[in-house]
Amino acid sequence: MHIAGYQKLSLQDYPKKVAAICFAAGCQLRCAYCHNAELIIKNRKINSGVFGSQAEEFLHYLKKRKSCLEGVVISGGEPLMQAGIENFAEKIKEMGLQIKLDTNGLLPGRLKDLLERQLIDYVALDYKNYSQFWNETVGLHQSEAQKVNQIDKWYQSLSLLRCVDIAYEIRTTVVKQLHPPEALMQMAKTLSAAANNKTEEWFLQSFKRSGKILGEYKAEYENKEIFEAYLPQEMQRIMEQIKAYVPGVKLRI
Ligand code: SF4
Repeated sequence: MHIAGYQKLSLQDYPKKVAAICFAAGCQLRCAYCHNAELIIKNRKINSGVFGSQAEEFLHYLKKRKSCLEGVVISGGEPLMQAGIENFAEKIKEMGLQIKLDTNGLLPGRLKDLLERQLIDYVALDYKNYSQFWNETVGLHQSEAQKVNQIDKWYQSLSLLRCVDIAYEIRTTVVKQLHPPEALMQMAKTLSAAANNKTEEWFLQSFKRSGKILGEYKAEYENKEIFEAYLPQEMQRIMEQIKAYVPGVKLRI
């Protein structure tokens, strides 16, 4: 288990909990708007079940400060790519802390394992885009078959969450150039089609530029202002339209 960094205290990342947050190294996607480029490009250690020095240090910190904390967010990168995540989560649970997992949903088998072992208490599942815009959004030049396989894996993760008794949210970082209103409507219709009357929370998070994004490491994007957010009133309008399909949709602006 390799983490590339951690934050000792966060009041925003785990709903209603005082939490620490750690960032797992590596990800199988290359979303150009990703702010975690350093985690993705430079830290690819994912196959070792052994804890890296940062993971050890983080656990040590949690042990010392557990009485001031309620939870831990395991974020990334993509944490489910890490070979030692089960052990890591076990150690955190032994300290009496709750765990929120941030995931892109492409490893449903790993997710299932953690859920069955009751090692996670809350999941934030990224919902990247509608099929037509998928490859562009996740930054991969992949075949139609690869894309369909990836989307299918994502649905498997969503189906798992819909069947277990833990809290979860779906969330989308909305980028104007990647998420035209019609794509967001299609995403809403797709969610609603399989929701089985279940009201689930879907957070639309406006893209915010804070530092260098992954796309800017690619030559093709050099010197381009590639992405921007919708205006708040535009987001509001889109959300109102989506509500007809997904009543639990909310804005995080
Ligand atoms: S935004 Fe995309 S590339 Fe970045 S960590 Fe999330 S899934 Fe991976």
